[in-house]
Parts: sequence; structure tokens; C-alpha cells
Amino acid sequence: MAETLQLRTIEDVETDILHSAPAGTRECRAHNWVSSLGDICERRLVYWRIMGDMALDTPAGLRGIFGTGNLLAPIVIEQILNPFGRRQSPTWEILGRETKPRDALFTKLAISGRVDGIRHVADATGRMQPYNVVELKSMNPNIFAGIHGIDDLGKWHWAAKYPDQLLLYMLGYEMVERPGWLILFNKANLYEMRIIEVPFDESRADVLLRRAERINTHIDADSLPRQIRRPDICEHCPFLPHCAPRLQGDPDDAPEIYKPTEHPELADLLQRYVDLEQASREAGRVNRALTARLVKGQTVICGDIVVRWETRGKKWSKKIRRVGDGKPEKATEARQ
Ligand code: SF4
Repeated sequence: MAETLQLRTIEDVETDILHSAPAGTRECRAHNWVSSLGDICERRLVYWRIMGDMALDTPAGLRGIFGTGNLLAPIVIEQILNPFGRRQSPTWEILGRETKPRDALFTKLAISGRVDGIRHVADATGRMQPYNVVELKSMNPNIFAGIHGIDDLGKWHWAAKYPDQLLLYMLGYEMVERPGWLILFNKANLYEMRIIEVPFDESRADVLLRRAERINTHIDADSLPRQIRRPDICEHCPFLPHCAPRLQGDPDDAPEIYKPTEHPELADLLQRYVDLEQASREAGRVNRALTARLVKGQTVICGDIVVRWETRGKKWSKKIRRVGDGKPEKATEARQ
């Protein structure tokens, strides 16, 4: 009887399979990748160009997640989206996964990347014509359930850059007239999708192009952009040991001074915060004055405003609404 070879344990085989997920490139990037240019940290983008080979390895679990997305995207296109598109009128299909961007600016600014596909739509003669760019992203079912529109992508810094990727593809493939399609699909049910239309935004595209330009300038000048110093981001950054940012605030630190035009989103958020905080303080003052003026339990109608009361345990809660505004009444306090 032939001698049996020593077999590995099932646990070892499982571990090996998990670690067999593609490692991704660990080399200095020759270009600014379209998929990364919206990254929250510009310094990290310079690191990828100058010391990509020294980036820490991505954990096996995360590599598996990326690898799964890459495997599924062409399957979703070929087996779900295109058969569906061919049954529509006019017919459409997603083609050209391997097509390179043409825009000369991409070459000049060392930007590279390939879109998942170009949606072609049949014209009046039945000929398929390039219509809009399409990018697919696979999503964990829980995250997928929380995304209903483009604004929801901002909840995760890794998803917030997806629309930027579409903008750059629209530019690179010279297809800015029609919104790109960002197709998010549920990994647990490939037929469940959110198609987010991303219209071309010239000013945002300009911000991204200027960013690519700055990265190239940093590389030529052997300099680095500022550290973002955000523990939630930096602790997972593959360049953390090289960058070594101080991740705890020191009140004696010199402030970082930005021009609003350098970081328009930050400037806008700060302005809105200051305005809303002021409005919220004012709302608190008005609420206290109303509480003193109203009699608990007494319904009041004043013009088109109605005040009703509810009891919750020992507390009164008032609800004030405008008649006919169609919105649910809003509880504004619970005091007794
Ligand atoms: S450690 Fe933080 S600041 Fe440094 S490159 Fe990474 S994300 Fe940017």
C-alpha cells in the first residue's frame, strides 16, 4: 500500500487560503492614482510615490476584502448589468474595462487609473455610442444598507473619495457632459444596487488636479505636505512608522493656518458649525422663555403655530409645529 503523504490541518489550509489574497503593489508609484487622489491625507499620497515599497503590508483580512471586490465587479457587469441593459430600450451595455484615459492633462500631471467601464447606449440607428463612465464598488451588507445617496458616502473617509474618482475619470475619458455612474452593490446580494449619479463638478475637479500638481512639486522639491494627525486615520496608515505623527493634541503647538481657498470644504464646515452653534444657543434661549410663558398641559394655537403637550412618566413634553407643514411635531423639551 502506498505511503500517505502528511496532510496539513484544515485550520492551516484555511489560514493559507486567507493569506493567498492578492497583496497589491508595494512599490513606489510612478503616478498619482485616480482612485487615491481624493484621499484624506495628501502626505500619504506623496509617500506612495516616494516610498511605496516601504508601506506596511495590508492585513490579510483586508486584502481578502479588496480581492473579493475586484473579483465581483466584472461578474456583476457581465452577468447582471449587461444582460439587463441589453433588454432596455434604448439598449445599453458597459464596455471597455481596459481602455486608458486620453486626457493630456493626465499625462502632464502623472495621473493614472482605469475606469471599470464605459456605458454605451444605442443611438437611433442602433449603433452603440459611448455615454458615461461607470465605476463599481462592492459593499458589506451593513454599510450598503446605510447608503441611500451621495451624501451618505461622507460617513466613511474611504468611501468619501469615490465621487472624486468618478470626476477624474469623466475628465480623463473626456465624458464630462453626462453624470458618471457610481454603482454600489451588496456583496450578500449582487442584484441589490445603488446607482449614484455623479455630475461633473469643475471646481472640485480643479481642486484634485491642483493636488496632483502639488504632489509632483513635493516630489521634485523633496518635501512633504503637513501631517493630518488624526488617530482614527493615522493608526491604520501603512506609513505610520515613517511619518510618526504626534497623535495627541498639545495646546502649546503652533496653530496650522489655512487659507479658506486651500481647504474650501473645511472652511465651509467650520463656518456652518459656527453659524449653527449660534442658532442652537439662540434656540435654547427661546425655548427657556417659552417654557416660562406656557402653561404645561394647555394646548395653544397662535396664528398658524400649534403647541400640544404629552406626558412621559412625570414629565411634560411639548410639541410645537406649524399647521400644514406636513412635518411630524417636534418634541422640544421634557421638564417638570
Ligand atoms: S500617518 Fe497620518 S499624517 Fe502620516 S501619512 Fe499617514 S495618514 Fe498622513
